[in-house]
Amino acid sequence: MPHPLRVPLLLGSAAAVLCLARAEPRRAARQTGRATRQPLHRVVVVGAGFGGLAAAQALAGRPGVQVTVLDQHNHHLFQPLLYQVATAALSQDEIASPVRSLFAGKPGTRVLMEDVTGIDTAAREVLCGAARVPYDTLIVATGSQPSYFGHDAWQAAAPGLKTLEDARKLRERILDAFERASLPECGPAERARLLTFVMVGGGATGVEMAGSIAELARDTLRHDYADVDNTRVRVIIVEGSPHILDGFAPELQARAQRDLQGMGVEVRTGDKVTDIQPGVVHIGKEAIQAETIIWTAGVAATPVAAWLGVQPAKGGRVAVGPDLAVPGLPGIYVIGDAALPPAPDGKPLPGVAPVAKQQGSYVARAIRRRLRGQAGTRPFGYRDYGTLATIGRNKAVAEFGPVHLTGFAAWVTWAAAHIFFLIGYRNRVLVSAQWLISYAMHQRGGRIIVESAKPDPRPIAAAG
Ligand SMILES: Cc1cc2nc3c(=O)[nH]c(=O)nc-3n(C[C@H](O)[C@H](O)[C@H](O)COP(=O)(O)OP(=O)(O)OC[C@H]3O[C@@H](n4cnc5c(N)ncnc54)[C@H](O)[C@@H]3O)c2cc1C
Repeated sequence: MPHPLRVPLLLGSAAAVLCLARAEPRRAARQTGRATRQPLHRVVVVGAGFGGLAAAQALAGRPGVQVTVLDQHNHHLFQPLLYQVATAALSQDEIASPVRSLFAGKPGTRVLMEDVTGIDTAAREVLCGAARVPYDTLIVATGSQPSYFGHDAWQAAAPGLKTLEDARKLRERILDAFERASLPECGPAERARLLTFVMVGGGATGVEMAGSIAELARDTLRHDYADVDNTRVRVIIVEGSPHILDGFAPELQARAQRDLQGMGVEVRTGDKVTDIQPGVVHIGKEAIQAETIIWTAGVAATPVAAWLGVQPAKGGRVAVGPDLAVPGLPGIYVIGDAALPPAPDGKPLPGVAPVAKQQGSYVARAIRRRLRGQAGTRPFGYRDYGTLATIGRNKAVAEFGPVHLTGFAAWVTWAAAHIFFLIGYRNRVLVSAQWLISYAMHQRGGRIIVESAKPDPRPIAAAG
């Protein structure tokens, strides 16, 4: 028998628990729109990159909406700093954040690690192998992938840089080349080949990679590989057009080229690569022997056009309307690198993170307005806040309309902007700390080789 005084307490507690139990679903239902007995509007976002994340974050937790985020990886990746992972300046987890953690606690939101393989536009379902995810509104933001302009056979010899896995493999290849060049049995011709690094393409990624490899060789490896003459290191950018950093003002292109050359990088503009084989880059009749060849020349959209059954536009992108919706396919938006919106001035939008982010926010706003029964939004307009590219320590170029910065001022602006736009407080702190240490000590942290590219000299043990 409970104590008589405890009976009202127990009854009171039970009543409170019951009230809470009844209030909780009501609160959740209010938040997700169930209170109005309306079915939830299912928004599926494919791709948790810059565009998809901006859209999903602006819709998550909104009344009446259920958001499902699908991505083939479990993380959002800050691609602008991938080259720093590839050149041992940062570690993988410092530029990536788990997607689930970005949506934790948001009602009506789920995250699924799925590889999207198609879209059934008639059934309104996203196909992930055998699985199907139904949608009312679909936002596709799967970005781009390296494009070899019809020379797909070059891919094995000249890998691109798009994922954390690409960056890890490149870093190990670069460090492995130094290890092998330092072996006593390594002859001069082989050493020269191992210490030659070719970037095919002189856009921002090619320039940043080249500058960073040159610095890695000059600063860090000078101490660690005293027996390797680091003046033998050759870093080459091969660019088919007459200048590097397409899209920047000519004076900034020229300045970047001078800065690179000052760091010992060979900048070969107006030179077209005619063939790439493992360890060799051909430029007409000339053959450059190089252990590490990195494809930084171009990208094409992920196969979204094929998934939607529409004709791909320039660069494999999907031609969308001024509201970023796909004509003829109601309720489907394509944004970011995979989309080609109309360009009234004849200049297509660049494939950069701010375009994808602004498009993600725009589409989320348009969907919210539609669900509230309000009229459509104005056509998407991109607000260009400026362009930056870094070359090396204290060297960068920045263009903010008529304001052009170079050298230390541009470099500090570049660093501040990247810290600011990194996702997650933890990553901002870690990257800032890494950069401060590297700046003060001329050292890079992530120089561990896990899988060597070197052939294993150990004989394979006979079975039995
Ligand atoms: C090395 C490098 C450096 C760059 N530097 C800069 C820079 O300095 N400044 C700048 O503004 N821009 C830079 N960019 C470009 C910028 O990263 C892109 O423009 C931007 O990421 C495009 O955003 P998005 O949302 O369209 O695609 P992304 O950000 O690429 O996101 C696409 C997402 O879709 C997922 N995905 C792809 N296919 C599938 C599938 N089949 N199923 C499920 N998920 C899928 C991917 O995992 C990824 O998470 C750089 C790009 C690279 C590769």
